[in-house]
Amino acid sequence: MLYQRSSALFEEAYKYIPGGVNSPVRAFKSVGGVPLFMKSAKGAYLTDEDDRNYIDYINSWGPAILGHTHPEVLEALKLQAEKGFSFGAPTELETEIAKYIVENVPNVDQIRMVSSGTEACMSAIRLARGFTGREKIIKFEGCYHGHSDSFLIQAGSGMATFGSPNSPGVTQGTAKDTLLAEYNNFEQVEDLFKANPEQIACIIVEPIAGNMGCILPENNFLQNLRKICDENGALLIFDEVMTGFRLAFGGAQEALNVKADLVTYGKVIGGGLPVGAFAGRNEIMNYLSPRGNVYQAGTLSGNPLAMRAGLKTLQLIKQDPEFYNKLAKTTETLDFEIGKILNEKGIKHRINRKGSMMSIFFDVTSASNFNEVNNSNIGLFNNLFHQVLKQGIYLPPSGYETWFISSAIGDTEIDKTLEAFRNFQY
Ligand code: PMP
Repeated sequence: MLYQRSSALFEEAYKYIPGGVNSPVRAFKSVGGVPLFMKSAKGAYLTDEDDRNYIDYINSWGPAILGHTHPEVLEALKLQAEKGFSFGAPTELETEIAKYIVENVPNVDQIRMVSSGTEACMSAIRLARGFTGREKIIKFEGCYHGHSDSFLIQAGSGMATFGSPNSPGVTQGTAKDTLLAEYNNFEQVEDLFKANPEQIACIIVEPIAGNMGCILPENNFLQNLRKICDENGALLIFDEVMTGFRLAFGGAQEALNVKADLVTYGKVIGGGLPVGAFAGRNEIMNYLSPRGNVYQAGTLSGNPLAMRAGLKTLQLIKQDPEFYNKLAKTTETLDFEIGKILNEKGIKHRINRKGSMMSIFFDVTSASNFNEVNNSNIGLFNNLFHQVLKQGIYLPPSGYETWFISSAIGDTEIDKTLEAFRNFQY
């Protein structure tokens, strides 16, 4: 049997961990079959408990932009670990990483570190509410901003994979303050502002959406959001948990040249350790405790190991001026070559791509919002997923997720990937 040890481990895990996993999409529920249990990872490859190797297109859902277990990050972590794991007191290292980010990211004066993307987004909307004195927020269908209550309404990622519009446990009271619009539909946003005058604290948006597959903003969508926020005294929050330090060092703000009032980070910023962050201009960030009254805290926030892994990862990226061009080139090659193969096979599809994020949607010609993604042929994606998995290609286990390309993926890995796609039978 192919995945023998993973099957046994999953069965055992199922007894002690809800659904056998600590984060839902890992369970392979959408694609079916046994989730692979991993035991190690290096560069472009993951190794599972059955000793099979996989070219990784998930990369820990984004953080491993340099590939896995980069030797210099590992060394930095070892040195840091010798000094202590956690102090619960300020360290010079926290200022070092904050300064490094503020100096290299547009439009950000201060940054607060947390331990996950969820915390970052949850805290950013609290700050936006505290700053504006308003209660409502706008989010878009199919966007995911973590699992805090306000966001679990028509959310993407696992919520999309499992087809749950809203999570039980989120109260009506909370849900009523989250207003929904379709991604790329600016008229709906205008209508919401008209219907809720002086009540909207912020719009939170994934500037490139990655949680309903990879969806790009169209028709000046982000510029229009910027404008309507300015006109109405609301804040624009870019959720750059995926795009931050991935599309460009300065994330989507830099790559797409649109300014946000608050930005949330996660994934790459922690270099594979649990980190999130939110950042913005002084006038807003000064509202945060202990300087201001908007409360936010964390026992392990700014943890020295996490800060060291993050800082080293960011420095390694920054030291190569061609880093993002090379990543984009790899992704472009995958897009073109996979597209060619699918066309030769007569499989109708749409590939969306930006920088090192991409997704394939089957049986549709357009994928610009959640509705269109829902009309794509997820069954065909699931079929593809299993066929390439058997050949050592690890794609995200859901048609609703983006692929994350790492700089460890080179020609050999691209060739192997294309070979697996050529062998795809449908
Ligand atoms: N925002 C976005 C855009 C994300 O993609 C994610 C996670 N994939 C989050 C927020 C939540 O981050 P975390 O899982 O670290 O809580």
